[in-house]
Amino acid sequence: MSKTKYIFVTGGVTSSLGKGIIAASLAKLLQSSGFSVTIQKLDPYINIDPGTLNPYEHGECYVTEDGAETDLDLGHYERFLNIPTSQANNVTTGRIYQTVINKERKGDYLGKTVQIIPHITNEIKRRIQILGETGEFDIVITEIGGTVGDIESLPYVESVRQLQWELGDNNALVIHLTLVPYLAAAKELKTKPTQHSVKELMQSGVSPDILVCRTEHPINDGIREKLALFCNVKKEAIIESIDASTIYDVPNLMRKEGLDKVVLEKLNLQAKEEPKLIAWNNFLKHYKNPESTIEIGLIGKYVELQDAYKSILEAVGHAGAQNKVKVIIHAIHSEGINNTNVAEKLKNLSGIIVAPGFGDRGIEGKIEAVKYARENNIPFLGICLGMQMAVIEYARNVLHLKNANSIEMDSNTPHPVINLMEDQKKVTNKGGTMRLGAWDCKVSENSKTYQAYNTSSISERHRHRYEYNNQYSKQLEDAGLKATGINPKTGLVEIIEIPTHAWFVGVQYHPEYKSTVLNPHPLFVSFIKAAIKQNN
Ligand code: GLN
Repeated sequence: MSKTKYIFVTGGVTSSLGKGIIAASLAKLLQSSGFSVTIQKLDPYINIDPGTLNPYEHGECYVTEDGAETDLDLGHYERFLNIPTSQANNVTTGRIYQTVINKERKGDYLGKTVQIIPHITNEIKRRIQILGETGEFDIVITEIGGTVGDIESLPYVESVRQLQWELGDNNALVIHLTLVPYLAAAKELKTKPTQHSVKELMQSGVSPDILVCRTEHPINDGIREKLALFCNVKKEAIIESIDASTIYDVPNLMRKEGLDKVVLEKLNLQAKEEPKLIAWNNFLKHYKNPESTIEIGLIGKYVELQDAYKSILEAVGHAGAQNKVKVIIHAIHSEGINNTNVAEKLKNLSGIIVAPGFGDRGIEGKIEAVKYARENNIPFLGICLGMQMAVIEYARNVLHLKNANSIEMDSNTPHPVINLMEDQKKVTNKGGTMRLGAWDCKVSENSKTYQAYNTSSISERHRHRYEYNNQYSKQLEDAGLKATGINPKTGLVEIIEIPTHAWFVGVQYHPEYKSTVLNPHPLFVSFIKAAIKQNN
């Protein structure tokens, strides 16, 4: 294979412009043109990884097959490209510094002063090229987190400058994503913020090859000419990115604007085929033209921030399209649910999801929601903490084990139906020490989960410290809560079900991480199907 080419995506003017979606959409188009592509995210914060961050900070923590706790943009990359990412796809400033400081202690730089340039920038450049050097990819897209001009982003922009120089013309390019705001009073789109942001980038020695302009209104020829002139960018490389009704429209919109064409030209690459996006557009057709609507409740404690449950919301959307329905998700705060208002809050729902989470805030509300779903035969999907809540609810209300709980919430509970894993007992550090990444699971043949997956051997991604306590399995099973999925190596319970219920499944893993546009997750598809049935 020829040498890997590199595309850098920087952001200007404001954060939250959707660099991740632009990077994923471009990657999708290049992938459909016959290239093998991957995307990497560089995050300028000092945490080693986002695993210890509260979801209110940067949204959900996404988990890869190899157990990396990563930025949620990696979820978009996987959902768009349908190929797994790994630890190498997400690097933070913390990890860069950790590597350099460890090397310094080992004596690797003996005698030298360790500095941002060249030591930190060399480490950034090494991390950028790790994926290219595997030989698996024609093109690596690197998204630089943050906004150009931030102090934290400087070493990254400097590394891009150096790499562009070292890799040479036609081997690397820079896409700068900016905002072209509309001033309602003047009825005008404004280019000045973009001009300033490009100037900022140029002060660091980086000239963007392509400008992607986020806008609420179409950008006319005059604006394109002005931006081209002031920013040293060819007119055909000024790409409009207008607000879309769904992120899944963006690849088509970018294709219409010719983003992939400009990129291939600049990289001196010939498309191996026309990007047709047939399966993708087939998904979009169902996604945008549903035959009916159903309402699902998502019971969680970070509901104020949509990004906190990103992968679950997307997985439900994929499953809705597969079932030709529009799913309206009502995010309901678990702290506001109690036994007097639960019926009022949940009565109109065709399905209930109880979300993952950590700590005891809002858990009694989650347990009430599980009870309501169980007693009223409403399709229920409990994910990770949601599954643990289902076990606790059954122990308390069916087995009458008073104060049954998880050790996480009550270390003195008389009935620890959810217990700390044996190998977690010695763990004191919080970062990167949970049970993480893909683990095998054996599914019982006569179960709803088996019907969903259509196989008994599955592998799913985990992120938790606590587990179903097997000491209670006989009592729970005898009372009707079946363990239908077991880890073949450890014997740990991964799935629980109530066979007599319409659809009641709790999973210790996170199925949402593996749902993609082209492969909606079978468990979500099956849950939505059950909810539709409930609705009729
Ligand atoms: N807090 C629970 C545990 O650590 C569940 C984690 C989760 O929902 N991801 O086991």
